[in-house]
Amino acid sequence: MVYPVKTIESERTLEEAGEILTRYNLNILPVVDDGKVIGLISKQVVEKGEYHGLKNSLVKEYMTTEFSVVSPDTPFSRVQALVIGQNQSLLPVIEQNRLVGTISALEVMRILQTEMMKSEKEVSVYESQPLYARKKVIFKFMKERFPERIHHLLMEFGKVGDDLGYSVYAVGGFVRDLLLRGENFDVDIVVEGDGIRLAEEFEKRFSCRIRTHKKFGTAIILFPDGLKVDVATARWEVYDSPAALPTVESASIKMDLYRRDFTMNTLAIQLNPKAFGELIDFFGGVKDVKEKVVRVLHNLSFVEDPTRVFRAIRFEQRFGFQIGKHTQNLIKNAVKVGFLERLSGGRILSELILILHEETPLPVLKRMKDFNLFHFFHHKLKWDEQAEALFEQIHHVISWFDLLFLEERYERWLIYFYGLIDILKDGEIGELCQRLAMNEKLKKRVKEGKLQADQALLQIFSWISTDQQPKRSEIYKILDHLSTESKLFMMAKTTQISTRRYISLYFTQLKDVKPLLKGADLIQIGIQSGPSIKKALNGLLKARLDEQVITRQDEIEYIQKAQGMETWP
Ligand code: ATP
Repeated sequence: MVYPVKTIESERTLEEAGEILTRYNLNILPVVDDGKVIGLISKQVVEKGEYHGLKNSLVKEYMTTEFSVVSPDTPFSRVQALVIGQNQSLLPVIEQNRLVGTISALEVMRILQTEMMKSEKEVSVYESQPLYARKKVIFKFMKERFPERIHHLLMEFGKVGDDLGYSVYAVGGFVRDLLLRGENFDVDIVVEGDGIRLAEEFEKRFSCRIRTHKKFGTAIILFPDGLKVDVATARWEVYDSPAALPTVESASIKMDLYRRDFTMNTLAIQLNPKAFGELIDFFGGVKDVKEKVVRVLHNLSFVEDPTRVFRAIRFEQRFGFQIGKHTQNLIKNAVKVGFLERLSGGRILSELILILHEETPLPVLKRMKDFNLFHFFHHKLKWDEQAEALFEQIHHVISWFDLLFLEERYERWLIYFYGLIDILKDGEIGELCQRLAMNEKLKKRVKEGKLQADQALLQIFSWISTDQQPKRSEIYKILDHLSTESKLFMMAKTTQISTRRYISLYFTQLKDVKPLLKGADLIQIGIQSGPSIKKALNGLLKARLDEQVITRQDEIEYIQKAQGMETWP
């Protein structure tokens, strides 16, 4: 171990930490208050923080608080396990609650040098990153879990990669969901080489189409059976700094994975034939998936991209994970410091839509309340028991509607969105649409759809409160011009059984009712072409809805009778 140790207090700034790190040529500093080590702060975090204009922020806001310590008596094997296995590049050595020294990863690595040389040739870029990936062959598991089609396709990617001299990997959510035994066949491929060239080669050899994005080195491969594969070039964005040109450099898969949001999304499976099925884990993703933890890769993750706050909560609730304690603190800090306010409306809207598209968005919204996130959307927006009950109803209504198999397309997120904004007044809904940078078309759908639903609910309520039994054609008239989303929202919002029954009647019996006679038939009967035809057809529809006509002959007689009258019934 090394002694004496340079340390910093938690109330000092990132700038001050940076000075100490530079002056003493260190990569990581223990943060010590009253003689006790309460965290670690790395050069990488300090530099990125300064890059993001946070040099006056306090060390305590960005230090790592989840770390292991050892004592002077800890066996070396344990030290080795902590440094290599748990990705901790500096171990404080503690005796009787006091810091008595540190052990750096470099020291451990020196000791292990000979063994390491035999191992792999991976190079650490940041001190806080592990040097080596953990690898495990999951070939058999893949064969068991993937449909033959997917398995075969992955092998083909590996073969084409070999032919071009590229290493090819399946990455991200696809791998995560494989480990979680979920079904996800959105294949994401990362290539150490030219991703576009790989896609072009695929197009030459197999029946598929490609779309390329030269600027980003990405391509989408579309197969005739609807399967879609995203191909990217392994890259890492180098931060602009006065000394460096902004660049996107080709680099190893490790750098590509390091840019990602959470450890569970940093897993890769190599696809080249010789290493097919090798699961590559640089950042402890497997452990976190096993332990069901959502964890960011570094302390400035939410500063770099605050949308990750929403992603963390969404994944946590979707998979029944827990956001790690330190990651939770980073979220709280990002909220407190107001980083989410920096997000553009469009990005917030995309995240919100993704949340409302989840199978069950309710727990995600509940959790958003824990982190005090609603006021970022609109200061009046809140989550309470009423909102929760409404979301539960929406969930029931959607499940019911899906079971009708009506083949009617609708946007699930919009129904939940109506639920979310139910607490807002008209003007406030407008403000929210503005904040979320909705385009005019969407704004109209939101404002009008919600208003029409509320008005229709009032109209139906007036029947119920005056004991009126509406005709089937009256129910049709009120509901038919509303969007499916508005109708389903009404069904969820109402507390009246009759209202629910009317809407259900509309979907199951009324919505497809059409007269048997067509315009041409009416002309034959003697109706003048022009507006009279439309009037006649409307009259017939109404009669059919109210079951006054059943057969074609009934319809003809109905028309003939009506012809003698001045107006259509
Ligand atoms: P889903 O199942 O919701 O589609 P996914 O993990 O496939 O989840 P995508 O949003 O499709 O997520 O993103 C694909 C991959 O890109 C993720 O696995 C993650 O590694 C990375 N990614 C997406 N958004 C971010 C982000 N904001 N910051 C960093 N990495 C991200």
